[in-house]
Amino acid sequence: MRIVVLAGGIGGARFLRGLKSAAPDADITVIGNTGDDIHLFGLKVCPDLDTVMYTLGGGIHEEQGWGRADETFAVKEELAAYGVGPEWFGLGDRDFATHIVRTQMIGAGYPLSAVTEALCARWQPGVRLLPMTDDRVETHVLIDAADIDGSGAERGEGRKAIHFQEYWVRLRASVPAHAVVPVGADQAKPAPGVLEAIADADVVLFPPSNPVVSVGTILAVPGVREAIADAGVPVVGLSPIVGDAPVRGMADKVLAAVGVESTAAAVAKHYGSGLLDGWLVDTVDAGAVEEVEAAGIRCRAIPLMMTDLQATAAMAAEALALAEEVRG
Ligand code: GDP
Ligand code: CA
Repeated sequence: MRIVVLAGGIGGARFLRGLKSAAPDADITVIGNTGDDIHLFGLKVCPDLDTVMYTLGGGIHEEQGWGRADETFAVKEELAAYGVGPEWFGLGDRDFATHIVRTQMIGAGYPLSAVTEALCARWQPGVRLLPMTDDRVETHVLIDAADIDGSGAERGEGRKAIHFQEYWVRLRASVPAHAVVPVGADQAKPAPGVLEAIADADVVLFPPSNPVVSVGTILAVPGVREAIADAGVPVVGLSPIVGDAPVRGMADKVLAAVGVESTAAAVAKHYGSGLLDGWLVDTVDAGAVEEVEAAGIRCRAIPLMMTDLQATAAMAAEALALAEEVRG
């Protein structure tokens, strides 16, 4: 069975670990979000691709969910001693090596997809990991200028666009987001293999990743949404919203920016029945099943907390079962 998964970082990566366990013989292609990518210290950092690669390759910092296990921060401390920041983005010594290799290869002319393949040759994630695009796409968040340093407001700016990482990591999404813009997405082309993988898929899964800045960004690459809708195969998603709140992180803030309520049903309807055939909500949201089904999306309530591999594998198995059910 060929499975395509559209993944962000932590939620996507943890789900994929369960999927591999539930479907050990499946041929899994992961289309990773690159809208979170950022240039830091002259290096290209791809947080979501790396989270998937480290998680499936056994190098992840388990509790944190991102970055390397057994990490040290000597380089970052030395940079700070030179007054070189930003200090708010955690980059460990082991992690730095990944970004150095990536930046070096990109400088030599390799596209991100080839670089990702080369990095995965070391990590052997057991899935085919493709960036959504080789082109530069950067998610920006529109906030009130007065909410950040007061500086923009002094210059008479009403609103200001900042990099997603600055919003998410530095500001911890503590100020309202008025819009989320995947800058460059409209001009981006799907990376080699992306449209082919979708066309050849037997099922497409949306893991419990952020619907706006992870899955939404991948769907913003022209051709991807259309390819999924046209593939004629079951598309099943799992809600990242449980009990009307994100399980982890601040997804509610970016959902508000696109006018979507933080409920499992609202997220399903945001994707819409034109895209989604099936949707899994947590048992605490069983009351949402009727509303989702009324919107033309088959829905089941099952436990959706990825507490351990067994629980996560059970979620993946339910997603595949729902896919078979909607295949009819
Ligand atoms: P990021 O790029 O690291 O933010 O990761 P993703 O976009 O892949 O996933 C973030 C989403 O995963 C958040 O909205 C969380 O609510 C969701 N999430 C994290 N852990 C769980 C879990 O155990 N169960 C469910 N249902 N969602 C989860
Ligand atoms: Ca991310």
